[in-house]
Amino acid sequence: MDVIDRPLYELARLLESGEVSAEELAVEFLSRIDKVDGIVGAFVTVDREGTLSGARMADKARRAGEAPSHLAGIPIAVKDNMCTRGIETTCSSKMLRGFVPPYDAHVVERVKAAGMLVIGKTNLDEFAMGSSTENSALRVTRNPWNLQRVPGGSSGGSAAAVAASEAPAALGSDTGGSVRVPASYCGIVGMKPTYGLVSRYGVVAYASSLDQVGPLAANVRDCAIMLRVIAGHDPRDSMSIDAEIPDYEAQLGRDIAGKVIGLPKEYFAEGIEPGVRDAVLEAAKQLSKLGVEVEEVSLPTVEYALAAYYIIASSEASSNLARFDGVRYGHRAEGAVDSVSMFMKTRAEGFGPEVKRRIMMGTYSLSAGYYDAYYKKASQVRSTLKSDFDRVFERCDALLTPTAPTTAFPIGERIDDPMSMYMSDVCTVTANLAGIPGISLPCGWQDGLPIGMQLLGKRFSEATLLQLAYAYEQAAGYPSRKAPVTKDRGCCSCH
Ligand code: GLN
Repeated sequence: MDVIDRPLYELARLLESGEVSAEELAVEFLSRIDKVDGIVGAFVTVDREGTLSGARMADKARRAGEAPSHLAGIPIAVKDNMCTRGIETTCSSKMLRGFVPPYDAHVVERVKAAGMLVIGKTNLDEFAMGSSTENSALRVTRNPWNLQRVPGGSSGGSAAAVAASEAPAALGSDTGGSVRVPASYCGIVGMKPTYGLVSRYGVVAYASSLDQVGPLAANVRDCAIMLRVIAGHDPRDSMSIDAEIPDYEAQLGRDIAGKVIGLPKEYFAEGIEPGVRDAVLEAAKQLSKLGVEVEEVSLPTVEYALAAYYIIASSEASSNLARFDGVRYGHRAEGAVDSVSMFMKTRAEGFGPEVKRRIMMGTYSLSAGYYDAYYKKASQVRSTLKSDFDRVFERCDALLTPTAPTTAFPIGERIDDPMSMYMSDVCTVTANLAGIPGISLPCGWQDGLPIGMQLLGKRFSEATLLQLAYAYEQAAGYPSRKAPVTKDRGCCSCH
């Protein structure tokens, strides 16, 4: 097996034993990017020099017995809405082209403190608004399993980079599903942590009460390792929780017999593709063979969650995006005669159509006369949804659902139909509204495309979710395949 196809935990071992050097690893991943990224389009920036020099430093530190951690020298990809000092951070928007942050996001600081290297910045839906990465103003990202299909979004570049072996792991952000949906479409593992577990400092805000950073990785163990790297208290994020971070990796492999998993019937209703539903129900059977008790449960408020999510997320976005005024960051329109026209022209030129749609929806929902009917109602749905989850988690250790209603859809299919695009998140937005953790992992195939299942748990139950996911992954033998990324793939989806 090529070194680029090895799991991150194995790369750590190879580095520690000296079987491979960080520099060799950097060269291998950079040449993989050279080879396939013209087709896949996962990256918007590749930091060749920084990665190579960081790798040499990691090798030197390791030889001197001073490596900051066993992960030192492992490259990872970072979604381009997280600030990286000295490296352009665009949010895949024209608005932020040329913006070079003077500081690192907290998660980037943590990755660097472990000695890991940011190999590059990955493509996303503009300002993380979307479910397919097609809203990027910069480039198209393709699904490595089928190049005519979307990788999911908004962290589509991060998911595609891992699936195509361009990086062993990546960071994404998840406001309504943006880590889990692309993980599902690309056949990898992705986790949205409990709100407050990972600092949002230096992550360009989309909807602040929902945003969380999460890892994308090729398997559950790697996901557990990356979560530990990024989780932890940060006083610069007022919602950051000061809690002990467990060694998630060390807790994998614990017996899961006797755990109770609920199947919420609302997530298996109309709109879920039969192939997806069957694969998830098959996974439930597999889990019950491992001694897990599986039972049907009900979360009646789920029906209203998607509508509530798009109102709340857009409302917060309309406020957060007010800062892009042509004065403080990035793009500024030419030829304006006064500050108001400069402000208007800058925003008209800088934002793409989906971002404008969100700003308008959000401003409308918050405006006097409509606030009660929209924003307030949505907040009430959010509270009721939280109570629904509290109730089922009195009995269940986790819930099992599909991650998305379908597998990866063809590029172009939903871009002109916002409602059908929004429907892609129907299974994931609930976790963000309730602040609970969720993990997506592969559970089957349909027409050559991966199917993802989602496990949800109560707040701070990441260790349990990872244990359940790990036990399933080991029993089912996933992930067992790497995406082929060949040009002939994509003429059809059958193989
Ligand atoms: N697709 C959802 C949206 O557009 C979720 C995006 C995200 O999680 N960043 O809002």
